[in-house]
Amino acid sequence: MRHVVIVGAGNAALCAAIAAAEAGARVTILERAPETARGGNSAFTGGCFRTVYDGVEDIARLVPDLTEEERDGSDFGRYDAEKFYLDLCELSGYRADPLLIDILVQQSLPTLSWMRDQGVRFLPAYGRQSFKVDGRNIFWGGLTVETAGGGVGLVDALFRRAEALGVTIRYDHKVEQLIGNRHRIEGVVVNGEPLHADAVVLASGGYHANSEWRVRTLGQGWDLAKVRGSRYNTGNVIQAAFAIGARSHGNWSGCHSVFFDAGAEDFGNIAMLNQQKNYFTLGIVVNRNGERFFDEGSDFRNYIYSKMGAAILRQPGGTGWQLFDAQSIPILPDEYRVPRAARFESDTLEGLAAKLEGIDRDAMLRTIADFNAAVDDGMPFNPAVKDGRGTRGLVINKSNWARALREPPFVAYEVTCGITLTYGGLAIDEQARVQSEEGEAIAGLYAAGELVGGLYYDRYPGGAGLTSGAVFGRIAGEQAAIG
Ligand SMILES: Cc1cc2nc3c(=O)[nH]c(=O)nc-3n(C[C@H](O)[C@H](O)[C@H](O)COP(=O)(O)OP(=O)(O)OC[C@H]3O[C@@H](n4cnc5c(N)ncnc54)[C@H](O)[C@@H]3O)c2cc1C
Repeated sequence: MRHVVIVGAGNAALCAAIAAAEAGARVTILERAPETARGGNSAFTGGCFRTVYDGVEDIARLVPDLTEEERDGSDFGRYDAEKFYLDLCELSGYRADPLLIDILVQQSLPTLSWMRDQGVRFLPAYGRQSFKVDGRNIFWGGLTVETAGGGVGLVDALFRRAEALGVTIRYDHKVEQLIGNRHRIEGVVVNGEPLHADAVVLASGGYHANSEWRVRTLGQGWDLAKVRGSRYNTGNVIQAAFAIGARSHGNWSGCHSVFFDAGAEDFGNIAMLNQQKNYFTLGIVVNRNGERFFDEGSDFRNYIYSKMGAAILRQPGGTGWQLFDAQSIPILPDEYRVPRAARFESDTLEGLAAKLEGIDRDAMLRTIADFNAAVDDGMPFNPAVKDGRGTRGLVINKSNWARALREPPFVAYEVTCGITLTYGGLAIDEQARVQSEEGEAIAGLYAAGELVGGLYYDRYPGGAGLTSGAVFGRIAGEQAAIG
């Protein structure tokens, strides 16, 4: 029986472990975190998966407990393979690896169906991905399902299945080196000891938690970003792969980062989820100079949110404020109602400005007045479509969903940069085999998840990370088991 060692215990690793065990291998997972902090970045997620689907029937297959009422009260739309592929192309500036994204797209629905069969429970992502319009839930962003219980629910279901299949899971086991060379891998060094394996699957995440690497690859100021998720993804396994001759690949100067609560801790805290603030599309955002600095309505949140951390980091002091009025507050999702958020409220704009420390208050009030005067009231507001309700004549216009801030109460959320994941990593082929600098597959070495480069450049379509981890994790596990 082949022995497959899997490095990491997040979504990609667990999918690999289940697939390898199903294919008949003896599987050992090595996870550097203690059991109490298991699940990696995957545990911190909202559990949203991007997948191809053709209308309500595909959703119903993924969500067997979808009720008649939910069917009737929802417009799930459809998200076809062409659109998913095009999204990945466009958001990456046509740089994404065509082979990998084709596999990601084509295998998205079959892989989610496989996960459902492994015990993962999917639900429609009503709270984050639909707006109620004329009494119906309208889905708008190609991201329609999430896992029950979010990321923790996802990894718990996968751990349950892996354990039921007899997978051995070793916590507090940090992989430090790979044993072998650029032609063949024969095991790993873990906690200072060698461990033999017929195949090794690397699924240990990117390097977002390594502030020194962030500055080196992403640039000045990135040491100041807050880490939204796992503190254990420091890139040391990527480094170990380079040491035996693996090829670096993808967008090393790019990452996924979002607006994040300015008062959040430096590393993700699983007890304090939802500190991202991704619905700036419904309001405006100002920096310390009291000025807007981008078009908040250029596209749906799913297609632009991943650049907002970088955008705010470039502003004076690396912080800013999202501003909303009473019209938008009721449709802001849960992430705007978490306890201990840096939230300020007043019945007047002047009163709100007085509560914001470090902002140029007069400039902020001028910005709001100019914005309000520029809103084109002719178009109806509809958050479920790009409604074209913009501003006219500003230096930076808002293209959609523009509404004057004039109905009290007014609220502000102070935000900074929260880094989610890094884009640069290792090169793999269609069998998830890690490639050497010479362009050959390294026998016995596979990779999946965040540490795979070449999928995202510049921007990222929400929900692609979990889907790609599952798709390539499953492929890596199967291939590692077969050899
Ligand atoms: C707050 C937040 C919300 C998110 N929401 C979503 C979402 O809804 N949908 C989506 O698609 N994506 C989301 N993402 C992105 C998503 O988390 C990642 O794309 C995905 O979870 C990566 O999975 P992975 O298995 O590659 O890595 P991880 O889940 O991070 O697993 C890697 C594991 O490897 C371990 N490890 C690291 N180094 C070593 C070592 N040397 N030895 C042994 N083990 C090691 C780590 O401890 C970790 O457990 C979100 C991310 C965050 C932070």
